Amino acid sequence: MHSLAKAALVRNKFIQLQQLSSVSRILGRRAVGTDTGDKDEVYDVVISGGGMVGSAMACSLGMQPNLEGRKILLLEAGNKKVMDRVPDTYSTRVSSISPGSATLLNSIGAWDHIMKMRCKPYQKMQVWDACSDALITFDKDDLQDEMAYIVENDVVVAALTRQLDSLPDIVKVKYRSRVVQYTWPTPYQSDGGVPWVQVTLASGETLSTRLLIGADGPNSMVRRDSGIPTVRWNYDQSAVVAVLHLSEPTENNVAWQRFLPTGPIAMLPLSDTQSSLVWSTSHRQAEDLLALDDESFVDAVNSAFWSNENQSELVETAGSLFRNALSALMPSAGSPRQLPPSVAGIGPKSRLSFPLGVGHAAEYIRHRVALIGDAAHRVHPLAGQGANLGFGDVALLSQVLGSAAFDGKDLGAMQHLLEYETERQRHNLPMMAAIDLMKRLYSTNAAPAVLLRTFGLQATNMLPPLKEQIISFASK
Ligand SMILES: Cc1cc2nc3c(=O)[nH]c(=O)nc-3n(C[C@H](O)[C@H](O)[C@H](O)COP(=O)(O)OP(=O)(O)OC[C@H]3O[C@@H](n4cnc5c(N)ncnc54)[C@H](O)[C@@H]3O)c2cc1C
Repeated sequence: MHSLAKAALVRNKFIQLQQLSSVSRILGRRAVGTDTGDKDEVYDVVISGGGMVGSAMACSLGMQPNLEGRKILLLEAGNKKVMDRVPDTYSTRVSSISPGSATLLNSIGAWDHIMKMRCKPYQKMQVWDACSDALITFDKDDLQDEMAYIVENDVVVAALTRQLDSLPDIVKVKYRSRVVQYTWPTPYQSDGGVPWVQVTLASGETLSTRLLIGADGPNSMVRRDSGIPTVRWNYDQSAVVAVLHLSEPTENNVAWQRFLPTGPIAMLPLSDTQSSLVWSTSHRQAEDLLALDDESFVDAVNSAFWSNENQSELVETAGSLFRNALSALMPSAGSPRQLPPSVAGIGPKSRLSFPLGVGHAAEYIRHRVALIGDAAHRVHPLAGQGANLGFGDVALLSQVLGSAAFDGKDLGAMQHLLEYETERQRHNLPMMAAIDLMKRLYSTNAAPAVLLRTFGLQATNMLPPLKEQIISFASK
């Protein structure tokens, strides 16, 4: 063969080899998400924030068969929360976990451990108005069914941490790792730019990810730095929480909530002899409550549940006429009033307060970014829904990412993330609006508002199908 022709053949072979090697490098990167050879390590998914919601997300992705072989990282600014044995005293931070959330926690292997540690199911909830006699009772037809479960937040995180410990080859977790900076990619990468989200930790370490999930709470840095517009405001209330010791042992399977003009006070069952207090009130009263000695605090709690000082004769008369008319129309409907247990003491140093607010991210997703939990939506605790909404986000996002992985799609692409955003906003927004409306409706003792809510509560209490709808909406 002519020497020039030979040289051309060798050059062509060389070019083909080069092309082959770069294709295999790209495929290699996509398939297993290994290091790019750049200084950053590339992950398929990084979750920023390992609270209840972020930890559940990490477990859920780690247990998705379709995500096998992907690199998943959970970053948490705080320490690792392990619980070798259940503490003797209850924590003041508890959540009412809905059956839907329990199903998710069960599917990711954390529920059994929660049940083994400490968890109190309840079958009934009574909500009533301090300005009238109106009440509503939610209960399960079959008292074997749980309405929800009261679980300490630390117990939920400890169970999820334990489950993450069993997935070390799938999910990497870095505790004491605060993110200090995110660098965002552009959707259509021009030459020289970064294709992934870059994450810088306080230690100076940097890493990259195809998808960043922001689970970093109500003041989310992911949400803020990605420029997602957010509607948020502070309520004129703080929540005072404490562990309550009951006067005598009871079955304690009812969650109690009374709406005072200053805000709702709730007593949630922990055991036969203890309950958890969530008292939302003005910042001023919250400060005063924290400053009281234990005995005066207990008196204030009992009085908040029992006193009739906010009731007026006009509302009382109108309310009882309306109730009698409803009873005549539907004699078997409605539920009898039950009395809450009285409180005899509080757990040592168990009183804390938290300012309350509401917030909603206008978008839950951006290119290569998704928000979950309080980072996406924050609600008033009166309906016990904040963490439950977050667990709902986890269930759907995990399912959407699993399908995307099955179809060989880029996990950070907008196409399937949009499905997550649309479906979750459709659920979360009506719930948030209902909670905010309740907060506003009950923040006054003006007679017209009190009459309106008295009639509304009494009528709803008489309509089991409507109550079932409410329970089913809140149980998801
Ligand atoms: C008084 C009260 C009572 C409540 N009761 C209920 C209830 O009964 N039921 C219910 O469902 N909900 C309830 N909630 C709401 C619930 O507590 C929250 O919705 C839930 O804790 C939110 O969890 P999260 O994981 O989204 O956020 P968070 O719990 O705020 O966790 C965020 C995590 O991100 C980490 N983080 C933040 N920034 C960074 C960073 N830069 N780098 C790394 N890590 C970071 C933090 O350390 C933290 O661990 C209540 C809330 C209050 C205030």
